[in-house]
Amino acid sequence: MKTPGRTTAGPPPAPDSGRRGKRVLLAVYRLGLLAAAFFALHFTTVRREAGKDAALDERALAVVKSYLPAAVSLGPPEGDDRVSAVLDARGEPVGWAAQTFPEARPVTGYAGPSNLLVVFDLARRVAGVTLLGSADTSGHVAKVVKDPDFLSQWNGRPQASLGAAGEPRIVSGASLTSEAMARGLAARFGAAGMDQWFPGEVPLETLREWFPGAASLAGTRVLAADGGMLGTLLRSSRMGVSVRGFQGASDVLLALDAEGRKIVGAAMQGSRDNEPYITDVRDSLLYDQPFAGMTVDDALALESGTAVLVSGASRTAESVEETVKEMLRRHFAPPPVEPPLLGPRDGVALAWIAAGLVVGLGPWRGRKRVRTTFAVISVAAGGLWLGLMTGQDQWIKWSMRGSAAGTALPLLALTAAALLIPAAFGKNVYCAHVCPHGAAQQLLGHLRKRRFALPPKLHRALGGLPWLTLGLLWLLAFLGLGFPFADAEPFEVWSTGFVALLPVVIFAGGLIAAVFLPQAYCHYGCPTGAVLKFLASSPGRWTRRDGIAGAVVALAWLAPFWP
Ligand code: SF4
Repeated sequence: MKTPGRTTAGPPPAPDSGRRGKRVLLAVYRLGLLAAAFFALHFTTVRREAGKDAALDERALAVVKSYLPAAVSLGPPEGDDRVSAVLDARGEPVGWAAQTFPEARPVTGYAGPSNLLVVFDLARRVAGVTLLGSADTSGHVAKVVKDPDFLSQWNGRPQASLGAAGEPRIVSGASLTSEAMARGLAARFGAAGMDQWFPGEVPLETLREWFPGAASLAGTRVLAADGGMLGTLLRSSRMGVSVRGFQGASDVLLALDAEGRKIVGAAMQGSRDNEPYITDVRDSLLYDQPFAGMTVDDALALESGTAVLVSGASRTAESVEETVKEMLRRHFAPPPVEPPLLGPRDGVALAWIAAGLVVGLGPWRGRKRVRTTFAVISVAAGGLWLGLMTGQDQWIKWSMRGSAAGTALPLLALTAAALLIPAAFGKNVYCAHVCPHGAAQQLLGHLRKRRFALPPKLHRALGGLPWLTLGLLWLLAFLGLGFPFADAEPFEVWSTGFVALLPVVIFAGGLIAAVFLPQAYCHYGCPTGAVLKFLASSPGRWTRRDGIAGAVVALAWLAPFWP
């Protein structure tokens, strides 16, 4: 505040409120940069993953050439339908091509999804369809590929018609695989619900066979017109129960009485198994009523092959018995016990973090004895017992995922404290008091009275190493190169022990160096410390680093357009 009557040589000092405002603005700017970098990496990752699914490779080009001999290259997927142009030697389009992934990925046959390549002529009519890859059972896939009429069934059809699933030709003996391929192709061109093999609701007439007064079905509850509960209807496909019979699973309905103790009846709503087994077993459920009147306990104790008796369709019949038992097991399973929000270990971790903040921000922060005592606590509790440290591995993974959801509360609290306190108070409390690796270096520094200091030039040059490491790690992440980021810092060693070589070398090297050079790793190696130092530096004052960091983050936002 300006003192009245006092003369000053320079400009008058900014009033307190102005200084505070600048400080807040700069803190928001610096944290905003971190958030911007976080989301830049997230969007780049999302875009790259989508591109991986859509881009066609050299193998696809070889296939395309068999239909369009003038093809020389493939353009990137374009337009709303993400179809790639097929280009000739002059770069002129001679046709179009698209693979059925990623839309076909959720559509599984016997064991997995299949990816087809669809090649179109210039008029966007199908010139040919080829299998690019399949995670389904190889015997069934081979049968489909050998069938000359299966993959050629789409030839000549306009692209606009492929989104209608219709009644595709199915390969006998590989019906699930071929049907999944056809469904996947329809899904790729716009058909909805292709991964749902048993769509549709249970008709009211079916319900009334077991509950004549049924008026509606609310979840699994069968209700009368006045809202009274008549019983329970379980449906295997909606419970995720999928027991394979001879060729596939069936959609089984199971009706329980109002008390939920007895089975009223069972039926087959749909099936991916083979005829005539399906019809035989369906008829047996309808006319023999093998489960009707059975108690839940008796049904659960059933021996396989003793309830649904259909000669010649035993595998399908047994799969229905197993399905019924599994449905009952899941329906009557006790609800999972929610683990307590905070266990004792989490409580200790939060107490340690809070104590670190008190020590770092309170009036005792300058006292050597307090500092040393808390360093011992950080090494013992935070490091050796909890193995709790924040670092680039978590930051990069959270950023790629676009969320830190599912992370344990102590780690979230530790990271929040590490980032927010320096920005808000200009004090790097995490590095000064909390980080167990920093604390270990501090304690090791007490082992020798005489410590070295690097010549100023070397100190300045090596001081750039943490920034270099930081830049390199994030560049690798932006480029999508699968580097184990945890290996670039020593923190993982505290929780997992001596597993990977590189972090062990950084861990041991940093601690040994700290005996001779104060906080050697912190000064000359730690990328996480570099970020925290940046947040805490010159509060309220714009520095060259703020400008550089802003430019780097702006560049990161252009990453999706990097070649
Ligand atoms: S610089 Fe790195 S190792 Fe040192 S205290 Fe900070 S986070 Fe821990």
